[in-house]
Amino acid sequence: MDSCLFCKIIKGEVPSTKVYENEDVFAFRDIEPHAPTHILIVPKKHIDNLAHASLDDQALLGKLSLAAKSIAQEQGILGAFKLTTNSGAFAGQVVMHLHFHLLGGWEKKEDVKSELHQ
Ligand code: AMP
Ligand code: ZN
Repeated sequence: MDSCLFCKIIKGEVPSTKVYENEDVFAFRDIEPHAPTHILIVPKKHIDNLAHASLDDQALLGKLSLAAKSIAQEQGILGAFKLTTNSGAFAGQVVMHLHFHLLGGWEKKEDVKSELHQ
């Protein structure tokens, strides 16, 4: 998809902070993080969102989940992370290329730790 921001990021036409790549999956840091660690995990194949995925994408969806696990391990957040996806504009999806938000790292932030222990 020529006009798709994440397709451009995957091709290197738009800069990103890449954290992981394999044959099918690309991952980079979210430009407006909502957690100490916030990474976007996307398939190289353009799929609008989970609602547009089909049985043909079954293996790819598994690869995305396992990439999330590998990235969580590399980033030191394997003990506590969230993996979410927004499907559709009314669910908050802004970029129409399937992506999973990998969020974590709260335990590493001293201010969050003190809030949790109050
Ligand atoms: P969503 O609202 O689920 O579609 O998420 C889109 C995400 O893409 C948001 O969290 C944005 O902060 C992030 N984003 C938008 N443009 C870029 C960019 N150029 N590089 C990295 N992240 C981006
Ligand atoms: Zn795309």
